[in-house]
Amino acid sequence: MEAQVVGGGPVGLFAALCLHEQGVEVGVVDAEWERPVRSYACGLHPETLRLFDKLGLMPAIQELAHRVDRVSVWRNHERAGVAELARLPGPYPHVLTLGQSELQDVLAQRLAQLGVEVALRQEVVGLTLLHGAVCTVALPRSAAGERLPGTAAPPESAREPILRRSDYVIAADGYASPCRRALDVPLIDSYDGEAFVMFEFEADLAQYQHEAHVLAGADASGAFWPLGSRLGRWTFQLSEHLDEPGSLELLEQLLRAHAPWFRPRPEQLCWTTTSYFERRVVERFGRGRVWLAGDSAHVTSPLGFQNMNRGFVEVSELARIIRHELQGTLPARDGFERFERGQQLEWRRLLGLDSVLLSRGMIPPAEGQRLVAALPASGSDLDALLGQLQLGLVPRAELPLPVQL
Ligand SMILES: Cc1cc2nc3c(=O)[nH]c(=O)nc-3n(C[C@H](O)[C@H](O)[C@H](O)COP(=O)(O)OP(=O)(O)OC[C@H]3O[C@@H](n4cnc5c(N)ncnc54)[C@H](O)[C@@H]3O)c2cc1C
Repeated sequence: MEAQVVGGGPVGLFAALCLHEQGVEVGVVDAEWERPVRSYACGLHPETLRLFDKLGLMPAIQELAHRVDRVSVWRNHERAGVAELARLPGPYPHVLTLGQSELQDVLAQRLAQLGVEVALRQEVVGLTLLHGAVCTVALPRSAAGERLPGTAAPPESAREPILRRSDYVIAADGYASPCRRALDVPLIDSYDGEAFVMFEFEADLAQYQHEAHVLAGADASGAFWPLGSRLGRWTFQLSEHLDEPGSLELLEQLLRAHAPWFRPRPEQLCWTTTSYFERRVVERFGRGRVWLAGDSAHVTSPLGFQNMNRGFVEVSELARIIRHELQGTLPARDGFERFERGQQLEWRRLLGLDSVLLSRGMIPPAEGQRLVAALPASGSDLDALLGQLQLGLVPRAELPLPVQL
């Protein structure tokens, strides 16, 4: 095999599609039993839509997704600015919201149509460089500590390790990333974990259905994303982790305290969860033949869906480089090292690790950094949105000097 993708989450599935599009022979391996039924990251950035368009995924996505045209930013109960996504370049200048499991279904179905193998229930437990290739060792899930349903103990046949040899590996194996550990790549943290509570709820959102709202004041950090005319998601950052699951009463309480201007009254809670999100990035995205992408490489606030969407950008770039590496046609200075520098620069900005984000006094840098994490963009789209918001934050394009790593 020319490339294998470890991890069949959204980033891993898209990585396989990008590699296939580049003509690279690819397979995916995932430890899960079946596709995850969860909502989690529910917004696709305009840049992601441009990437999906190149792979012909947009008709299927548009059928399931909901369009959001603008983002209002609120500070201390006042609307401080509005970013019109329609002013971004390209054929899809908006965010599309949809459940992460629906997105994964679209990606998995396309891979199945293309005949790309997605091997489930195999947990990658080892990664070795062998004679100029990478060898992964996977254990069937039952042998890695779980029991097959209905059996007292894993059958002997399930204990056989499965070896796969490939020229390259994209490791999109999520937050705990065994591949990152195998590579022994350290993480750079910018903050301790921040606690968030998420509520998906039904309400009459007719007046709110195409506009996201971001709270970026000293008093609160949070975001509302519409998922339809009757379904929405509020996420709030909390000062400490909740021991109890969220409730309708808690949502109402948080809305009264932090978003009293939000008129729709939540009628029913459909889904709620609490989670910690650190803010961190790997010291290196990979080396040689193994490269990390998505949550295996970075974590930031969930408000702007940057983890998953940056993951899509990363794997699309990696697939192109792998194809060139395999064909020996890589233009000078345009390989993995350039990828590494570009991603580090962007993540250091997104996480506020370098003082790339300056303030002209209207919004303190710490709050500005939270706002950056809550916007549905990165790269030049993020520059454009910050420019529109005019909150005193200086977009990268206006900075005098590039940051030296
Ligand atoms: C409770 C919760 C709420 C969230 N809410 C939001 C949100 O509101 N907004 C937001 O932007 N993001 C949110 N996220 C994060 C979001 O889900 C991720 O950013 C997104 O799933 C990243 O995709 P990924 O493909 O990089 O990783 P993942 O989706 O984590 O996929 C990794 C895959 O790798 C597989 N894997 C792991 N180890 C191995 C192994 N050893 N061998 C083989 N396979 C392996 C896993 O089974 C999994 O399928 C949330 C996450 C959680 C847990």
